Amino acid sequence: MRSSSTDLAIIELLTAQEKHLTSLEIYEAVRRRLPAVNQSTIYRSLDRLAQLGKVSVSDMGTGAAVYEIVGDHMHHHLVCTRCEKVITLEHKDAANFFSQILDKQDFEVHTNHLILFGLCGECRKALEMEDE
Ligand SMILES: [Zn+2]
Ligand SMILES: [Zn+2]
Repeated sequence: MRSSSTDLAIIELLTAQEKHLTSLEIYEAVRRRLPAVNQSTIYRSLDRLAQLGKVSVSDMGTGAAVYEIVGDHMHHHLVCTRCEKVITLEHKDAANFFSQILDKQDFEVHTNHLILFGLCGECRKALEMEDE
């Protein structure tokens, strides 16, 4: 199995799905198209695509890393640790933060899928009510 066909199958899958998938989900979906593919080929492909910046790999607090295509519209996420709600943040909302880091720390951020953990408004409200 040539690695390039695996790379292509993964990119096409992630582009079509536009959501976060675990390596196992990617393996199972790609195997439907390329029945001879094995899991370690998929893992190597995902590593390579992540290093090239074509695919993001993130810990979203679910226990397994998730992969997503890095398209023309880069995005980030806010993850509520209480209700597990995932909010999508457009890149322009993080761009200021990244450019401040460049200015102040002389450090260029290459993170293409930033995950910030916290509490959403509803959960903060619910926690306040519990306290009363
Ligand atoms: Zn995402
Ligand atoms: Zn919440």
